[in-house]
Amino acid sequence: MEEKFKSLRKLIETKTNFAITTHINPDGDAIGSSLALYHFLKNIGKQVIVAGPNDAPENLRFLPEFEVYQPFTEYSDNLTRALKNADVVFALDFNTLSRTGEAMKAVLADVTASKVLIDHHLQPDQEFNLAFSDSTSCSTCELLFDVLDGAFSHINWLTKDIAECLYTGIVTDSGSFRFDTVKPETHRKVARLLDTGFNHTAVHEYLYDSNSLERFKLMTIMLSNLRVILDGVVSVSYITECDLQATGCRREDVEGFSNMGLSLKGVVISAFMREEDGKIRISFRSKGDHDVNLYARKYFNGGGHKNAAGGTFYGSVAEALQLFKQTVHEAVLTR
Ligand code: 5GP
Ligand code: MN
Repeated sequence: MEEKFKSLRKLIETKTNFAITTHINPDGDAIGSSLALYHFLKNIGKQVIVAGPNDAPENLRFLPEFEVYQPFTEYSDNLTRALKNADVVFALDFNTLSRTGEAMKAVLADVTASKVLIDHHLQPDQEFNLAFSDSTSCSTCELLFDVLDGAFSHINWLTKDIAECLYTGIVTDSGSFRFDTVKPETHRKVARLLDTGFNHTAVHEYLYDSNSLERFKLMTIMLSNLRVILDGVVSVSYITECDLQATGCRREDVEGFSNMGLSLKGVVISAFMREEDGKIRISFRSKGDHDVNLYARKYFNGGGHKNAAGGTFYGSVAEALQLFKQTVHEAVLTR
């Protein structure tokens, strides 16, 4: 690891133009880690752009300099140029280029820059020049803390802005410190973040007390579509594009719905499906050793982590529901 830290430090110290990229439908960890790294690189005098395949959710808007995040779709020409001009491209919070969407992936596949991965998903692609990959880390933000601490321990890298961004990713990806990926060391690192003096109560309020009435209406539909199968251990629900239109919601408004089915007593695996551009995007959540990563890979062109994975189904909601109901028993462990 020491050698990798040295390589990263050398790369950062000797280069000027940096691009930070993250995954489609970016979450708190994706945006938090991207902005934390942005602040760090800016603080040491680098040119930096931050890009992802689509818009970030509204409730992350409070993050310091959130507006530097650029969705690829809106500014494609400028961004394409900036990505091509970068000396170093960081890939944060994703393990395979296909997670950056077709348009951005095509550009990234072509760039000549050094590619650096910092990510906590299983089975990363091998195409990176330097890879910090640790699936035992609760979030990319926690891993980025380790990487910056390892490579730049000689300078005071941890500012209040960086701390607020890293805290956001750690909170959101760890289910507010509840998942088993949270270790005593995670809390020790969080203590160092809190020492910088940012307002952590405000962060939680921005993240979780930001529902709109429209989103509550959409949630009502999602809950009324919810079904429980296999003697109450599996739940599944969905939202259609019509539901979004009828409630005046945007795609990002479903953020967090995927966790709700799992909060039902007795449920160990849940799925949440939504229509997107004629495809069905699915989020899987599970408890304990019930492995939705393997399941999503096998049946839904996806992957992720053991307890949180995603996938895509090419067909209708009804067909996706049918495939799920027919196959999900394979992911349920029986004793
Ligand atoms: P979510 O359901 O929140 O979109 O995703 C849950 C986890 O699975 C995230 O860590 C995400 O990065 C990963 N994930 C979601 N969709 C996919 C996918 O299509 N392929 C892969 N490999 N991982 C995914
Ligand atoms: Mn993450």
